[in-house]
Formats: sequence, structure tokens, C-alpha cells
Amino acid sequence: MTVYIIGHKFHFETENLCRMFYPNSDIKLCYEYNTAEGDYLYTEMTTCNGVTVLSAKINVDNGSAEYNEELECYSDDDAEYILALCVFKCLKDVTGYTPKWGLLTGVRPSKLMSKLVDQYGKTQAEKYFTDKLLVSKEKTALASTVSDVQKPLVATNKGNSFSLYVSIPFCPSRCSYCSFVSHSITSANAKKLFPEYLENLRKELEITGRYASENSLKLESVYFGGGTPGILSAEESVLLIQTIKENFDLSSCREFTFESGRADVTTREKLVALYENGVDRISINPQTFDDSVLEIIGRKHTASQAVDTYNIAKEIGFNSINTDLIAGLPGDSVEGFKKSVDTAIALRPENITVHALALKRSSTLVAKDNVSLAQDDSAGKMIDYANQTLTKAGYIPYYMYRQSRCVGNLENVGWTLPGKECLYNIYMMEEIHTVLAVGAGAVTKLKQPDGSHIERIFNFKYPYEYNSRFDEVIERKNRITEFYRTYN
Ligand code: SF4
Repeated sequence: MTVYIIGHKFHFETENLCRMFYPNSDIKLCYEYNTAEGDYLYTEMTTCNGVTVLSAKINVDNGSAEYNEELECYSDDDAEYILALCVFKCLKDVTGYTPKWGLLTGVRPSKLMSKLVDQYGKTQAEKYFTDKLLVSKEKTALASTVSDVQKPLVATNKGNSFSLYVSIPFCPSRCSYCSFVSHSITSANAKKLFPEYLENLRKELEITGRYASENSLKLESVYFGGGTPGILSAEESVLLIQTIKENFDLSSCREFTFESGRADVTTREKLVALYENGVDRISINPQTFDDSVLEIIGRKHTASQAVDTYNIAKEIGFNSINTDLIAGLPGDSVEGFKKSVDTAIALRPENITVHALALKRSSTLVAKDNVSLAQDDSAGKMIDYANQTLTKAGYIPYYMYRQSRCVGNLENVGWTLPGKECLYNIYMMEEIHTVLAVGAGAVTKLKQPDGSHIERIFNFKYPYEYNSRFDEVIERKNRITEFYRTYN
């Protein structure tokens, strides 16, 4: 579909709305208009006698629609909103589809909800969601609950609080739905890169620790993510944890998560080593408890292996375990997904994170198998079942985010047993405080201590670049101290 952007700068929002309704289409933005051919959406802003007119017109195979609105007193926010509304109505008319998140295209609905609650109170904030952003009552309630659950936890944050993220962008093999920059550890290239990667990671931890102490930052949580950190041997994990202990003051650290990931690499020996060295939260992520689906998505473990690994972790003594599930996986059905949810609940992990499948272009499913996002509402039914069943089982939603190209425009929600919320997920997703991040693909986010300004420091995405340009990685970290000098 061609999307014409004429006389305004709201291309980002316009494109995102189009993607919500046409997730599988190629969307081409055009900033000049001659004559339109094929499927198109035309958007325009004009001014006449001091009045701004915003309009959207759509013409596709199965129909056409047009909406215009006037704005007497111009502001960017109002103009963007009104144009989005016109576009939304056009898209809704020709597709007959009503997205449950309405006009909301952002990745952090609960962050917006919390901001609105602080400004206007809970009732008005919810009204803003339903009446202005056209979010369904059910999704509004979800965002509002997440915001409520987070409030007391966020309140304990101090201006100089921070979290540490350690990136392990390697996996035992590649899952077909995954678009993450992760290298299969079995490839010759990855094997060659890996020892130097670990060495650099330790150096980066050492230097980052120096910046943290130089700026009197207070470490609240540590998170090993990936990829699959579980590919590290017990010795390698302990070495990295040791490096953290030597270079950071952990006396204020309230949580240490290691996202072990897949059951095919998570052994008893590794779990014992993590437990004995202070890791107090782990993730074992089956994604589904259906063996045939696991095979289709290319995960090299069975459902019973995931259950066994979970039980071993419990036996060792972990009392905070997360399991991830994904709704909408290829080969899965609503009934199959319901069984996965029931199995996860029966295990009683402290956290269950329910994702809606997002299909990025770089995943094998899209790139090679040409699988596109289902237009039916099966993923919606899966998510609805998860929400109802988890609620009945005593879990509460504590963090959430949305992704583009997600089945049914749905959301990812972290569920928790009361009092077992993962702090890092809240800090990171709601952008509560600074996250110092190390490793390939890691992004450090510096948050102004008593304000909302955020700055990012990007590490190189690929391990080979991270290794070969490591001096630059380290040089960029200088910005940490400059940032705190400016904003403290
Ligand atoms: S889904 Fe996870 S385990 Fe699978 S390839 Fe992606 S990062 Fe690795």
C-alpha cells in the first residue's frame, strides 16, 4: 500500500496505524502526490484562513473512506491526534477491524497510564484511554492494573539507582520465529569469537563498574539476558558473576536474574553454580508445552525436559522462577495453547510471561518460510484465556509491553504471584532508572536522576564487531560520567 504524507510530519504515527491494520503489507511512504494508483492511503494537512484541516482518504480493493477534521487552534499534539483519528476511522471502515488498543501504537501502555494517573487521577486516566485513545475497556483495565501494581515498587527508586544488564547474544540453535541478533554457539564462527567475547565482557564490566562508583550510583538489580545465557558453562557464568562482585557494590542489589532460557542447555551443575553464587531469579522458557510445536519452531528440547529443568531448579532452592509462553506460534492451536497455560500454572512458577508472537522480517519464518501474521483471532482467544486463567490462579499482571508486527496487535504481559515481581522488568520497561548495559547488542540507557531525559549508548550489535571495535565500545562509556555531571 502507498501512504501519502502531504503537508505534515506525522509519518511515524500514520505508518504505525497502517501496520496495525495491514501487518503483512509492504507499506511505502510517499511525500509527493501526482496520481494515486493501486491501494493507497492519502493523508494531508492544509491551512486556510488560520484554520488547519486534517484529512485522510483510503482507497483499497474492498472499499474506500474519507474523513476530514478542522483544528482552529494549532498544536502539534492536537494535529497529530486528529490526523491519527481520521486515519484510524478510514482503516476501520474498510477493514471492519477494531484494534483493542485503539489508536495506541506505543510500546509502553502502562507507562502512559501511570503518567496520566499522576497528572489527572485514575478515573480520568482510564477515561482518556477509552474515550480519547479508543482503547477497549478490557485493555484499559489491564494497563491500569499494571500501573497500580508497579506504583509502590517504583516509589522505592532513588535518583542514583541503576540496574546492570549483561548481554549473551548466543543460542544453542536458532528458533524459527526469532529476529534477535543471536548466534548459534555451535557454528565455527561463534566458537572462534566466544573466548574473546567473554574476555571483553569482563573488561567492559570492570570499566562500567568504575563509572558506577565514580558517579555514586546504587545498584538495584542485575540481569543476564540473551540470546541464551544458559549456553555459558558453570565456570564461565561464575567467572562473570565474580567479575561483577569485584567491580560493583552489590550491597544494595535486590535482585539477580539469570535468563537461562532453554532446557537443552540448562543443567543441574549450571543451576547449582548460579544458585551458590548469588543468582536469585532464573528464567526457564519453554514457550509452549507442546512437543510438536517445539519441533516446528526449531527448539531442540521437549516439553518434559522443560518441566524437569524447572523441577531441578526448585529442588536446588530457587524461589523466583519465570517461564515464558508465546501465543500464536505456528502449529499451535487455541486448545494447545490453553494446555500450555494450564501446565505452566500447575508448576506454579513465581512469574509467567505471556508473549504474543511478533513476526519480524529477519525471522526464518518470514524470510524463508514466508509465514505471515494470522488474520483470525486465534491469538486473541489464547491471550484472553491466559489472562482469565492466570487471574483465577492468583497471578497479577505486573509489567507489559507491545511490539510491532505482533499477532492481533496484542501485548506481552508479565504475570506474577503477589510480592514476586521482577524489579528489573519494571525498571527497564517503564524507564524508571539508568540501565548500564554490557556486551554485544546491549544498549545503555541513562536516565536523568530527577527528570525524564533519557540518553542511549549503543554497543555494536554483532559479537564480531563488538570484539574488533572494542576500543570504541569502551570510549563510548565515557558519556556515563559526562551525563551525570550534566544532569545531577
Ligand atoms: S528465541 Fe531465544 S533461544 Fe530462540 S534463537 Fe531467539 S534468543 Fe535464541
